[in-house]
Amino acid sequence: MFIKVKNLKKSYGEKENRMVIINDINLNVEKGRICTILGPSGSGKSTLLNLIGGLEEPDSGSIEIDGIDITELNSKKLALFRRNKLGFVFQFYNLIPNLTVRENIEVCEYLSKDSLKVDELIGTLGLEDHQKKFPRQISGGQQQRTALARALSKNPALLLCDEPTGALDYKSSKELLALLEQINKKYNTTILIVTHNNAIANMSHQVINLRDGLVSENYVNEKPVQAA
Ligand code: ADP
Ligand code: ADP
Repeated sequence: MFIKVKNLKKSYGEKENRMVIINDINLNVEKGRICTILGPSGSGKSTLLNLIGGLEEPDSGSIEIDGIDITELNSKKLALFRRNKLGFVFQFYNLIPNLTVRENIEVCEYLSKDSLKVDELIGTLGLEDHQKKFPRQISGGQQQRTALARALSKNPALLLCDEPTGALDYKSSKELLALLEQINKKYNTTILIVTHNNAIANMSHQVINLRDGLVSENYVNEKPVQAA
């Protein structure tokens, strides 16, 4: 199993203001799957993704990724793990405004020996004609594809996406999903997507539903809808 989450708990605040966000979560994700985390706003989806991505520390429980329990790593080793194994894509693309598309993608490339060629990524993501432009000169969909290319530049084993289509229209969202499918097939990247969009869930291999800090549903999609 590629991701193994056991008895995960996370709360925020002190004493009477204490809010339990992740109540006791257990889940597994196999290598090479596209898995969607669904649930209403405030159900703890982003918190769960941030815990799995080692961006937040749980109160208790364990998170194993590719055989390593990241809750046991010290902060230095965790940072290295994140750098070598994980890619992140967020709703707002977090591009550097005064770097071109190509430079935004190249920013992380030195970090890993296993990096994919920038040209290959630019080709795969259809950014050839935009590589010399700045983020403000391209559409939202193109900015998100640039952010995706940057996240993929170190060939991460696990790609974590938080509402990656949240700021995109339907057509661009579908295009982004088609690209995620393509990347998943080509590089066997395991992909976790946080969304409240059911259409995206229908396109993924596994769906995890969160309700009040617990997994209310967890199923494998035998026949995911093709985004392409
Ligand atoms: P979702 O992604 O499902 O909308 P989140 O994981 O973002 O849910 O948030 C779940 C709850 O946790 C919300 O009520 C939110 O206000 C709270 N929360 C999230 N992050 C923090 C934080 N750093 N400090 C305090 N409360 C937080
Ligand atoms: P999306 O739905 O992907 O965000 P838009 O509707 O924003 O797409 O953009 C459609 C087209 O307009 C894109 O092909 C893009 O190249 C162009 N475009 C969008 N914003 C800008 C901009 N600020 N400057 C130049 N071209 C733009």
